[in-house]
Amino acid sequence: MISLVSLLIMRRKEDKIVEPLSVKTLKEMILYLADQIIECKPLLTELDSAIGDGDHGIGMEKGFLKVKEKISVMNPSENVYEVFATTGRALLMSMGGASGVMFGHFFAAGAKNTEPKAVLKTEDFVALMQKSLNIIKETGKAELGDKTMVDALEPAVMAMKMQDEPSFLDLFRSAESAAKEGAEKTKEYQAKHGRAIYLMERAVGHQDPGATSVWIIFRSFREFAEKHLPDKPVA
Ligand code: ADP
Ligand code: MG
Repeated sequence: MISLVSLLIMRRKEDKIVEPLSVKTLKEMILYLADQIIECKPLLTELDSAIGDGDHGIGMEKGFLKVKEKISVMNPSENVYEVFATTGRALLMSMGGASGVMFGHFFAAGAKNTEPKAVLKTEDFVALMQKSLNIIKETGKAELGDKTMVDALEPAVMAMKMQDEPSFLDLFRSAESAAKEGAEKTKEYQAKHGRAIYLMERAVGHQDPGATSVWIIFRSFREFAEKHLPDKPVA
């Protein structure tokens, strides 16, 4: 008969090695993300042209070009949170508008008032994202169903929090899938914030551009993890 202890031992054998992210890896991940966002400019432009003023793709491209510049010349840092803070500051400085503040917060808000750390663990990343989500909601006053980036980010954070001892790949997979579903659901909503508010029910049927960007962010993190941070089973 299999005892509880041996079951627990078997469970541990299935565990994966979860290596925390170094500053160097994190920088590479952000640079990879920046290229993916820039590539998605036409899609983001198309979505914002349908329910906004058509500039979301332009803003995100401008923002992430600045991110690439700032991350590439960033001082050698021993603090992983500095990578997120630099990314958020670059977006805030260069994008402008409401979404510049929101995507700036996405990266920088969760990194604020943190103890410097040389490596980032999965739980640090989840805590950072939860904090950023809280500040985005506090600042923009958007709740779930208001047809904003929150509709993708909140489910992504919830999905990450549900993971039991995840690897980064597990985390990003769960966040990507929840964000994609959340972004698709925005088609059903009328907007309560941003320019789409003026369209009332005419916004229904169109996917929110900001929520789509959040999905692209987690999709890019998952792609990066698949290439560079694959799960390694414990020997
Ligand atoms: P702008 O609306 O200034 O033209 P963008 O087109 O770059 O900015 O971004 C639009 C996106 O910003 C929307 O799709 C939405 O997801 C997000 N957004 C707008 N207002 C808010 C808000 N109050 N809270 C959260 N996100 C918001
Ligand atoms: Mg716009």
